[in-house]
Formats: sequence, structure tokens, C-alpha cells
Amino acid sequence: MAAERSKAQTVKAQPVRVGVFGAGGRMGSTVCAAVAGDPELELVAAVDPYHAGIDLSQLGVDVAGLQVAGTADALADAGAEVAVDFTVLDAARKNLGWCADHGVHAVVGTTGFSDTDLADLTQRFEASGANAVIAPNFAIGAVLMMRFAELAAPYFETAEIIELHHDEKVDAPSGTAMLTARRMAAASPDWADDPTQQTVVEGARGGVGPGGIHVHSLRLRGLVAHQEVVLGTTGQSLTVRHDSYDRTSFMPGVLLAVRAVRERAGLTVGLDTLLGL
Ligand code: NAP
Repeated sequence: MAAERSKAQTVKAQPVRVGVFGAGGRMGSTVCAAVAGDPELELVAAVDPYHAGIDLSQLGVDVAGLQVAGTADALADAGAEVAVDFTVLDAARKNLGWCADHGVHAVVGTTGFSDTDLADLTQRFEASGANAVIAPNFAIGAVLMMRFAELAAPYFETAEIIELHHDEKVDAPSGTAMLTARRMAAASPDWADDPTQQTVVEGARGGVGPGGIHVHSLRLRGLVAHQEVVLGTTGQSLTVRHDSYDRTSFMPGVLLAVRAVRERAGLTVGLDTLLGL
């Protein structure tokens, strides 16, 4: 009995077989490197139609003999159990549909999904045997920032969100800003009306997000991903700020989701439950 137990203890779990959509992109190539460097995971496929045929080593990923493929079929051929997607919204919608149809679990960082998208994906993944974790921000500090903003919301009547990103980001506002506003609005229905009567420059008050919370998107060269939530009430304000200085800041959260997704039935939005928040 004791011998059997010790034998079982020494049998190593098989690494999780992972494929990456958007492997040629900034986030996708960082994910490939993080997966390749994790002994519990195995990078088995990399997909990016615009970088097809490139050897992963050309993207700075230390994996021998793996080339970027042009289509999702590479994931099926390689027996990927989990797909990670950091692409663009239209591509991510298609990739997720493919994952649901092929029973491949998905971890998604691509931003811009609407509530309708999320409702569709919930149905689609519940109907398939596969699961998905979608998080607009995999940085653990950003997950905590959203939680702190949500906790503070009922104690303030006014709040605005300022999100700051690098100058190549194609969507605005960021998925993190939208999710923050949605969660603050759900935590408190009592937000003061905007007092602005005259707008001299269109857009000066930013966009109006869930709960009427204003969201301002800054795009500046040199930045990565940053956000401030500023809450105000009589005589005081509270600022909650998070900064990602490097794309590696997202990797512990991505790897956590890759390990957890097989056990999380259906669609999970955000990392909170995975972190026990
Ligand atoms: P990026 O450098 O433009 O990378 C996207 C990559 O996906 C590009 O290589 C793109 O090719 C490729 N692509 C386009 N269509 C594809 C398809 N059908 N299949 C596979 N690959 C496809 O952008 P990024 O900075 O890495 O950001 C990617 C996404 O992640 C964005 O939505 C961003 O907002 C999000 N993001 C999320 C987090 C988070 O923590 N959740 C953190 C950072 C960024 P081309 O460039 O040739 O079109």
C-alpha cells in the first residue's frame, strides 16, 4: 500500500498541451515563451495567419522545431487541450467558436467583447464539452484594482476611470475599463448626474460607460497598460491605480488560467474566482 502510494506520488502529471492564437503578436509571443518555460505545460501549436511559416525561435521563443501555422487546424493536429487567444476581436470570435466546436478549452485575453458576445459564448461553451476563461486583464494587480474599486463604489457618488495604453492599441475604451465600470455600477446604483452643460471640445468628458461612469482613454507611446479609478465624495477623493510596465506582468495570470480552465465549467469572466476573491 505504502509502496503503491509512493509510486503514485512519483508518477508525474502529463503537461497540459497548449496552443496559442496570435502567436506572432506582442502578447501571443510572450505567452508562447511563458508556456514553453513552464514545466507543467507544453507548447504544441502556434497559430497566426499573418506570421505563418515563421520558426518560433525567430519570435524569441526557445522551442525547437515549432513553426507558426496559418489555421486553427494546427491545434487539432497537435492535440491541444487548451488554446490561448490574444488576437483581435473578429478573429477571437471565430477562434472561440472553433474551440467550442472542437472541445478545446480556451483562455482569452483579447479585449472588446460586448455583453451580447459574452452571452453567446456562455451558451456556446455550455453546449460544448469545453470551458473558457475570458479576462480583459490578466495582471493580478489589475484584478485587485477592480475589486478595490468595486468595494469603494457604494461610499462615493462620483467616479471616473482613466485608462492609459500604448499607442498601438486598436480598441477603446479598454476591456479593463469597461469591466471596472460594469462592476462599480453593479455595486452601487447611486451615481451623481454629470453637471456638464457646455462641451467646448467634443469628447472632453470622455465616453459614458455602465452606470454613467465616464471613461477616458489615453494612448501614449512608451506606455504598456495602466488604469486609475478616481472616486470622489464631499471633501475627499480616493484613487486606485495599477500599472503594467511590461507584458510579462500578464503571464502569471495567463498560466494560472491555463492550469485552471479544464476544471471551470462553462464560461468564466475575469480572474477573481480563480484567485479566490
Ligand atoms: P498584436 O501585437 O496586434 O497581436 C495580435 C496578433 O494576432 C497579431 O500578430 C495579429 O496578426 C494576430 N491575428 C490576427 N488575426 C488572427 C487570427 N485569425 N488568428 C490568429 N492570429 C491572428 O496585439 P497585442 O498587443 O498582442 O494584443 C492582442 C490582444 O490582447 C488585444 O485585444 C489586447 O487588447 C489584448 N490584451 C489583453 C491583455 C489581458 O491581460 N487580457 C493584456 C494585453 C493585451 P497581425 O498583426 O498581422 O494582424
